[in-house]
Amino acid sequence: MSLRLREWAAAQLEEIQAAGLYKNEYLVESPQGVEITLQDGRKVLNFCANNYLGLASHPRVLQAAYKALDRWGYGMASVRFICGTQSAHKELEAQIARFLHCEDSILYAACFDANGGFFEPLLGSDDAIISDELNHASLIDGIRLCKARRFIYKHADMQELEKRLQEAASARFRVIVTDGVFSMDGDYAPLNEIMRLARQYDAIVIVDDSHATGFVGRTGRGTPEKFGCLGDERLIITSTLGKALGGAMGGFIAGLAPIIALLRQRSRPYLFSNSLSPVIVATAMEIFSWLSETSELRDRLEANARYFRSRMIEAGFDVKPGDHPIVPIMLYDAVLAHRMAEALIQEGIYVVGFSYPVVPKGQARIRVQLSAAHTKEHIDAAVEAFIRVGQKLGVLKRAVA
Ligand SMILES: *Cc1c(COP(=O)(O)O)cnc(C)c1O
Repeated sequence: MSLRLREWAAAQLEEIQAAGLYKNEYLVESPQGVEITLQDGRKVLNFCANNYLGLASHPRVLQAAYKALDRWGYGMASVRFICGTQSAHKELEAQIARFLHCEDSILYAACFDANGGFFEPLLGSDDAIISDELNHASLIDGIRLCKARRFIYKHADMQELEKRLQEAASARFRVIVTDGVFSMDGDYAPLNEIMRLARQYDAIVIVDDSHATGFVGRTGRGTPEKFGCLGDERLIITSTLGKALGGAMGGFIAGLAPIIALLRQRSRPYLFSNSLSPVIVATAMEIFSWLSETSELRDRLEANARYFRSRMIEAGFDVKPGDHPIVPIMLYDAVLAHRMAEALIQEGIYVVGFSYPVVPKGQARIRVQLSAAHTKEHIDAAVEAFIRVGQKLGVLKRAVA
């Protein structure tokens, strides 16, 4: 049995290789940051991390983490309801709730777990989940774990969403589920319109703001701030500590107090998985305090994204329109996207090509992600490398003087 399984696994791997879908892992030999060292000793500028605010190895963050180790220790070796809740965990949950204008929040080991643990305790076969077709895998998996009826609407299509809400009219609860920002295009869910439909059809909205919390919106409260619906009681927010907010790991759900309290009683990834490490918890508190004091980091990130976009458009690249620090450089051809990314790494700019099945067929691209830690010099170096490689590969829409 085990031998046949090994042969089957080997054959699957060959198929993945033959289809050109094999994911190689580059070894990084330095802390995460704007400048990273690859295994062969090469130093490259990193333009593909979710390190939006540049906090992954920021001195102020490291300092908070060292202090947290001394104050709270390393691990909890317990789930929350046995002996895994320190006052730091409760303080961070209260802080997240305040930051996002919600009544309470609940921590998970990851946003994947938050999304995996949200639906099953709250929704049953009398209920309806209405989900954007491009939602993150963790939302899709979480939805699969509950017995509610499933309705899918075309990406960000409000007419279809309304039709699905009408089809689900007989449900006890209707829950609309969407990413706040969709990671392949960096586009936003139209949350103001979604909330309007939710009010009209008495639905709840769950928004996964993993690519938004900490930097989208004028003070970094995420897509609810950008779309003017912060503090709306119909809104439940899930997000990650593993991207902009330090990038270590951890996730959370924020919303009305009784909903969060019920998740503490019934949500399986919360009940049956270890408590988040105090190092992460106390460091996240420092990060939320920082982001509550000033918007300087998200302001710098916004300016960096705008500058990179404008220089790339000016250079003649096909840039997907938007304003998010996810900047897709469209190449349409999978082989070209991967060749171009390889060539850019050779030039010292670390980016990754994305092709089917991660993006639709014929939509291959390089996804650039900006960080608040990038300087103008870093961005200029990236643009110039793009131009050199782009000219060589003939992808520029017009010649550059
Ligand atoms: C990254 C991401 C997740 C997973 O977050 P983790 O905390 O790393 O598990 C979930 N949802 C969305 C939309 C994401 O982008």
